[in-house]
Amino acid sequence: MPREHLLKIGVSGVRGVVGEFLTPSLTLNFAQAFGTYVGRGRVVVGRDTRTSGPMLQHAVHCGLLAAGCDVIDVGVLPTPTMQIYVQHTGARGGIGLTASHNPPEYNALKLFNAAGQFFNHYERNELLDLYNQRDFAQASNAETGAVRQDQGSAKAVHIARVLKHVDAGRIKRRRFKVALDAVNGAGSVMSPDFLTEALGCRLEAISIDPTKVFPRVAEPRPETLGELSELVRRTGADAGFAQDPDADRLAIADETGRVLDNDDVLALAVLRALANVPGDVVVNLTTSSVIDDIARTFNRKVHRTPVGEANVVDMMNAVNASIGGEGSAGGVIFPAVQLCRDSYIAMAFLLDLMAETGKPVSEIVGSLPRYTRLAGKVPFQHGRLSGLMQALEAAHPDAGTDKTDGLKLLWPDKWLHVRASNTEPLLRLAVEARAEEAARRLYDSSWRLLTG
Ligand code: MG
Repeated sequence: MPREHLLKIGVSGVRGVVGEFLTPSLTLNFAQAFGTYVGRGRVVVGRDTRTSGPMLQHAVHCGLLAAGCDVIDVGVLPTPTMQIYVQHTGARGGIGLTASHNPPEYNALKLFNAAGQFFNHYERNELLDLYNQRDFAQASNAETGAVRQDQGSAKAVHIARVLKHVDAGRIKRRRFKVALDAVNGAGSVMSPDFLTEALGCRLEAISIDPTKVFPRVAEPRPETLGELSELVRRTGADAGFAQDPDADRLAIADETGRVLDNDDVLALAVLRALANVPGDVVVNLTTSSVIDDIARTFNRKVHRTPVGEANVVDMMNAVNASIGGEGSAGGVIFPAVQLCRDSYIAMAFLLDLMAETGKPVSEIVGSLPRYTRLAGKVPFQHGRLSGLMQALEAAHPDAGTDKTDGLKLLWPDKWLHVRASNTEPLLRLAVEARAEEAARRLYDSSWRLLTG
């Protein structure tokens, strides 16, 4: 792994490998810059279950207190729950210690503004300038803030908001059996109660011990969820749910244990949301056209953005969207609960669809328009990027183009999207087509061109 990928201090906050790269002193300084930026008042601090969490949490507390802020320590909590709590309690902002789906040796600071949303483009740049100038607020002894614990109420606030948007009584009456894999992450402290008490499900769970390490690859993808699939089959569950370590992302397995495409997970949520809430849909450029098909049936528009939750959220704010997300990343964003990725509303929406239709998950998914989607990663050297993109465009003069994030080539029945990864020295190639053979052909020829 190149050195520049081991620590990132930039517009998305701070993320790095703990120890040599992401240090307590760096974390303290960044938290003090954050406290200086948001001003004196309450700041919510929570974390996922990584080994480095408590250590870095103390550094964050220290930086915030030094800047004159008061700290509300919410302990281990899902990221969306923290975001809701920040907004609900009128705090100045929040810091979540989580590297999300990155491997356990990583950690990161997720930064929330007073609305409980990720720092937008302007806020991130201003904070970064402040951090680089090192001119931090410095509380005197009399001005130094205090730490208060609140490790209970945030969950209740989040669950109550979710329940407003589904027919919880109808779901409870079905007594669904659900399998859960919370990767021993932050979902461990909330998902079991959410599924059993709030939604009346019978639960078969693995990896819900927040004191243990992640037992699988942190990112919930089909190839990492063999244990969940097996659990669904063994227990005869109606559905399986898998979260990432900070429980903003969700993967779903159907009643046969087959893990759904993330695009289909988003599609099901869009189907449910558009039936209940007005507004358009916002997704990134790599998200499946199945979203456009669903939106069309509700007479709604689909807006597309560059990849990245912040980009999707900015556009959702601008168009007052009903729902949005990133198909490829397994993120459902439903602003009526909170403008953030939320695995809990995604679980509730699926159970609501199951309860309303009386159909098994495989059948509900089977009713969606079918596309063949292929995606892969291509290693590349930074200097070659624009040449590769030009060659790809030149090879397809008949396609429409969108260059807002890498290169997207569009035809009536298929598309191709290639972009440089934000986190790894890779190109991400995605192709989708109605016909499987057309998808395969476009994918293979593009792969050859990019690697040739
Ligand atoms: Mg996450």
